[in-house]
Amino acid sequence: MNRTLLIKIELGGEEEENLVDGECPEPIKDKKLNIANHHICIAKANLGPANPKKTEHQFWLMKAVKWGVPEYAARTMLCSNCEHYYDTKMIRECMKKYPQITPPEVDPSWVDTKDGGAYCDKYDITCTASRTCDSWEPGGPMTDEKIAKEGEE
Ligand code: SF4
Repeated sequence: MNRTLLIKIELGGEEEENLVDGECPEPIKDKKLNIANHHICIAKANLGPANPKKTEHQFWLMKAVKWGVPEYAARTMLCSNCEHYYDTKMIRECMKKYPQITPPEVDPSWVDTKDGGAYCDKYDITCTASRTCDSWEPGGPMTDEKIAKEGEE
């Protein structure tokens, strides 16, 4: 079975979820759950920065040290190109269908950059394309085309 088609979510047990043509993920339907999962991601993996449009030198310096890369390189390692970032047609439709959280609802210091976002299968959150976290991995974004291609391999 193609690993990228299914993810495991922990909601009192393990459940597999299809992010290509399945049901909308629960955190997209439930703002409270989405916000709670964001707080877990912030606590466990330093999700941020608060304002991606600002320099946020301290934040990016910490990521550079964490990843062992220069700061300029760390600044390119974003949710938008993380392998956990699902930007599929289904996710975009789900996000339109239900009222979505705004960054200030996650934390009053967080700025809404209007950068757009998609769904993170690692923390089960909707995340802004221009933010990142310690769990970033190369290979994203996961799009319908990329997932279909991987399925053929
Ligand atoms: S795991 Fe990837 S997509 Fe999820 S919050 Fe972290 S950087 Fe963003």
